[in-house]
Amino acid sequence: MPYEGDNMMGVKRTNRSAALRILHEQGSMSRKRLSESIKLTPAAITKIVGEMIAEGLLTEGSMLPGSGVGRREVMVELNSRARAALGIFINLRQAFVSAVWLDGSVIFSESFDLPEKAPAEETVRMLCSRLTELSDKNGLRRESVVGVGVAMRGVTSPDGRVVRNSFGAFSDFDFPLCERVEALTGFPCLMRNNVRALFAAQMFLSPEPALGSQFFLRCEAGIGASFSIGERIWLGSSGQCAEIGHIPVVPRGGKPCSCGKSGCLETIASPGAILSDARALLSEERTPVLWHILHSREDGELTLDDIFEAAHSGDAEIASLLDRAVTTLAAALKGVIYTFDPGKIVLYGRLFDNPYYLSRLSAEMREGVDSGHSVPIEKSRLNHKLEDKAAGLLVVEDFFDKGGLA
Ligand SMILES: [Zn+2]
Repeated sequence: MPYEGDNMMGVKRTNRSAALRILHEQGSMSRKRLSESIKLTPAAITKIVGEMIAEGLLTEGSMLPGSGVGRREVMVELNSRARAALGIFINLRQAFVSAVWLDGSVIFSESFDLPEKAPAEETVRMLCSRLTELSDKNGLRRESVVGVGVAMRGVTSPDGRVVRNSFGAFSDFDFPLCERVEALTGFPCLMRNNVRALFAAQMFLSPEPALGSQFFLRCEAGIGASFSIGERIWLGSSGQCAEIGHIPVVPRGGKPCSCGKSGCLETIASPGAILSDARALLSEERTPVLWHILHSREDGELTLDDIFEAAHSGDAEIASLLDRAVTTLAAALKGVIYTFDPGKIVLYGRLFDNPYYLSRLSAEMREGVDSGHSVPIEKSRLNHKLEDKAAGLLVVEDFFDKGGLA
């Protein structure tokens, strides 16, 4: 095992990083409390706080009420408007460009519909062009922007610079996305998988340090997940930890999946699969309730809520389709619980807003599980509120990790 010491600059980064993170998580505090919280001497805190005030990263705020003895303490706080981060979030058939301040509040955000298998170069040019326009329109100074975060569907290279397989978002494989974003925007780029970026954003905005580990499950068009140990996301030895959506659950003859294989969990249990399977069944004879729901509305557009209502109201074939989706997903999640023993499973996606679906999944998760493996399962408190923040927050977290130094 290699052992390395740290030079003075490394120590400085670590100390500044601890100060930035605790001020982000706990809000303003006195230098004395900051010193106690991160276990540095008052002299060291005075020095780094002074530097960061001079750089605009921290500000001095209100005074603590005096006890009548000695000097009153001045509070210091993070100046979240000191820097901004840009973001590009890419899903299947959808993308967002946005910018956030250091506390994750959104400066601007715009979403785009994309075709499936969008041409990568053309799409990235369009997104970067719009990102630059919106940055200028919102008066963001270039020197205040710390970089562009890209939250990308699929698998990236180990160095996080190249999109190996976007699982159908791009037509291209092995696309050098970071290099292109840097060339087109002039800012450094940091790329991560989009589900991991959502999970990291949730932990940044809603930290729960005592939890130990969490499994974050996202169901939108497909199924993705991310797994944390402590407060860090575990990547796995090949960078593909928690690719639960692509577990083969139909050994032979399954439906083709966006990843290029067939018979994956995503082809049975994802919202996209549930919708397409219900569409294939739809007829007045086989699915009379669903037929009636659709024909009682003007738009005639099939939604997941229609499917849940039909299942709940007696369409046997729709209920059976949904049962298969729920039991298959629950089986995969039970595998996660027995293998990794997470402290909690967090659900993210519009699917989980539906009480009928959520109760079906919760009931199925209890089937065959002993009390020793009963893990809390809950919908994210930030459900579908992170897509406009997650990509930019990748860069903010990196900025904090580096102690606010370039
Ligand atoms: Zn797959």
